[in-house]
Amino acid sequence: MTVTTRPATDAPTPPLAARAAAIGGSPVRDILAVTARPEVINFAGGLPAPEFFDSAGVAAAYQAVLAERPGQALQYATTEGEPALRAAIAARYSARGLATDADDLLVTTGSQQALSLLATALVEPGDTVLVENPCYLAALQVFAFAGARVVAVPGDEHGVDPAALAALITEHRPKLLYTVPTFQNPTGRTMPAERRAAVAEVAGRHGLWLVEDDPYGELRFEGERVPWIAAHPGAEDRTALLGSFSKVMAPGLRLGWLRAPAALRRACAIAKQAADLHTPTVNQLAAAWYLERYDLDAHVARVAAAYGERRDAMLAGLPGALPEGSIWNRPEGGMFLWVRLPDGYDAAERLRAVVAHDVAYVPGAPFFAGPADPATLRLCFVTQTPDEIAEGLRRLRLGLG
Ligand code: PMP
Repeated sequence: MTVTTRPATDAPTPPLAARAAAIGGSPVRDILAVTARPEVINFAGGLPAPEFFDSAGVAAAYQAVLAERPGQALQYATTEGEPALRAAIAARYSARGLATDADDLLVTTGSQQALSLLATALVEPGDTVLVENPCYLAALQVFAFAGARVVAVPGDEHGVDPAALAALITEHRPKLLYTVPTFQNPTGRTMPAERRAAVAEVAGRHGLWLVEDDPYGELRFEGERVPWIAAHPGAEDRTALLGSFSKVMAPGLRLGWLRAPAALRRACAIAKQAADLHTPTVNQLAAAWYLERYDLDAHVARVAAAYGERRDAMLAGLPGALPEGSIWNRPEGGMFLWVRLPDGYDAAERLRAVVAHDVAYVPGAPFFAGPADPATLRLCFVTQTPDEIAEGLRRLRLGLG
């Protein structure tokens, strides 16, 4: 007798991990998906202006390393990163007053990866992480994936309030504070020097890691550079300082880095081995080649000057575009500014009508770790030309009604 067994095809697969299931899409993301239409003037995106990418210089760099060192450029490499690139990044820090050795740095696949590595190295499920309010969205996501309890530190237009920070440390015994002190995403605000010193002092006194995320600091178009928190007494041995070429060269290179004390940096390197072994060798060598032969600072100065004009175009158009009683800030650099519509407005609720007029912003609410202010929104002022910005703001006026 022959027994035929039919394979079972209807058994369900095991479920997703709770962390993946819990962190889903958002209604705002769905509305913003339509902003990919070319006719939309997109103040939502947060994209560097592509016309300022030095594509000729970057192409020359890739051609050179692939012609001169193809075996190395296309080969596996060390997790820590290419020595020549780390030396060049270290020299840039040292020239700006933050003494740094190549060995203090771990090259990462964008600074976004540095955030993930830090979460892996420092945060156990249930640990408390302090963040500024509002906070960079993808950092909130990293900490959520790590199972952190995220607590927002109260602050003002200058960033977190050091006294509130001290009180929250005593109350929650957190692992770290995450902050973007210069030209913050989403607000564009910058923490003044005295505030940085106070945050460093509180961290040193209470025992806290600081994660200082700085992808925008070089994009300054007016005012004086403010020293990194990492440079202040109290912070030197407890700060992970994150940097990136995304906003000064090009985000598609996916080149970032982490400057951190040895034990933490080693733990991040081990986490990176599990994540991607190393950041693409060819990208690292091309960036090192570029930094050796081209003047990145001169390039950044040109980009910053153009971004400054675009900020001014946005500032000029905002009074006519926003409802009476709205307020906004005037960042001295970076890519974003922050708007608060009058009481009673809900920026997320208005977005659908605004997008129908072929213009878009990001509502502020998702950036808040604590209670959200629904009247806020983020505008990116760098991706469009001044004329396009003026037109976008005319549409925004129609959309906001
Ligand atoms: N941190 C902040 C505050 C950001 O705004 C961004 C990019 N939007 C990143 C980190 C990640 O940048 P990248 O991975 O491209 O270096």
